[in-house]
Amino acid sequence: MAELKLTGVRKSYGQAEVLHGIDLAIGAGEFVVFVGPSGCGKSTLLRVIAGLEDITGGTLEIGGKVVNAMTPKERGIAMVFQSYALYPHMTVYENMAFGLTLEKGKGKEEIDAKVCEAARILQIEPYLDRLPKALSGGQRQRVAIGRAITRDPRVFLFDEPLSNLDAALRVQTRIEIARLHEKMAGTTMIYVTHDQVEAMTLADRIVVLNKGYVEQVGTPMQLYKNPDNLFVAKFLGSPAMNVLPAEIGRAGETTTVLPEGGGRITLPIASPGTLEGRSAHLGIRPEDLTIAQAGDAPFRGAVTLTESLGEVTLIYVDIGRPDEPFVAKLPGEVQIARGTVVSLDASPEAMRLFDEEGRAVRSRARRAAA
Ligand code: ADP
Ligand code: MG
Repeated sequence: MAELKLTGVRKSYGQAEVLHGIDLAIGAGEFVVFVGPSGCGKSTLLRVIAGLEDITGGTLEIGGKVVNAMTPKERGIAMVFQSYALYPHMTVYENMAFGLTLEKGKGKEEIDAKVCEAARILQIEPYLDRLPKALSGGQRQRVAIGRAITRDPRVFLFDEPLSNLDAALRVQTRIEIARLHEKMAGTTMIYVTHDQVEAMTLADRIVVLNKGYVEQVGTPMQLYKNPDNLFVAKFLGSPAMNVLPAEIGRAGETTTVLPEGGGRITLPIASPGTLEGRSAHLGIRPEDLTIAQAGDAPFRGAVTLTESLGEVTLIYVDIGRPDEPFVAKLPGEVQIARGTVVSLDASPEAMRLFDEEGRAVRSRARRAAA
């Protein structure tokens, strides 16, 4: 159990800097997920924390001690990879015990107790005598996690551990990892994924990374409901938030927004006037749109496609921006023929405004709540 602190952490490969000064504090026992698109530096950041890569600049502290110069082993960290990395000629038991047999002063009984405890936690006791090739992908990944558990790490690192599993197994193993964190209360876990569902469901806090920078840190719901910027807003949520370029005007204490493809909308933003006459972006999540009576609704267009997912129906509407889908997520099964003209609306509280640079403009209500 240990807290981590990263201060101005930089990492370059030759001339190319891939982490540009990461500041991050992770509490003891926290489950933190690093999420971001492929190539944004998630694995590099994890490998830097593990000590598998040297830091080019900044400091890394674990449990209050600077560990920049420590080996992975001295840091008390265990890492689980996407590829399992099991020894093919060793049984499950031997794979889990191997690291411990290399340590000085560990007796056979102590090793046996640790392996059996890990096997019990992960429910792989029936497979201890099998070779990895006689296991499914999910079972192999559990062995890899078990091997990490036997080392009693202070910090657990996972790099996309579910990516090689099929969809059903991915969900099952995800739930097991959440349980594992509960059972190992107090163990700090850092989990890397590009999958926003894994991030939303597993994390105490999410760190959104983009091009080697931290975009935002917060609980899943904070990030979902109050994204700091367009990148975070569009990265979390499926289908992604609808984003429309908009012109900003002002009428007294309220701000009027004229989005491309839509009618006039009035929003209560925290500092009206600052955006007056400027361009901005209006964001509306698909689930916040509802079918409205024609007339006042700001959006209107022909349905180009519907997708029934069972519990929800997605409707794609042509609001005059041919290359950009405008999507509404409606509850239940909704039958609308292609070509039908519909009107769509959302409550002002559900609409989000971003300035020209993509930074969130807080609404009055939301600022008061924050
Ligand atoms: P992610 O895990 O988010 O997909 P990575 O951390 O693997 O991203 O990579 C971040 C960036 O660093 C990428 O542009 C990648 O090409 C580069 N990179 C990663 N490892 C190396 C390396 N050993 N040498 C040079 N460049 C690397
Ligand atoms: Mg990676």
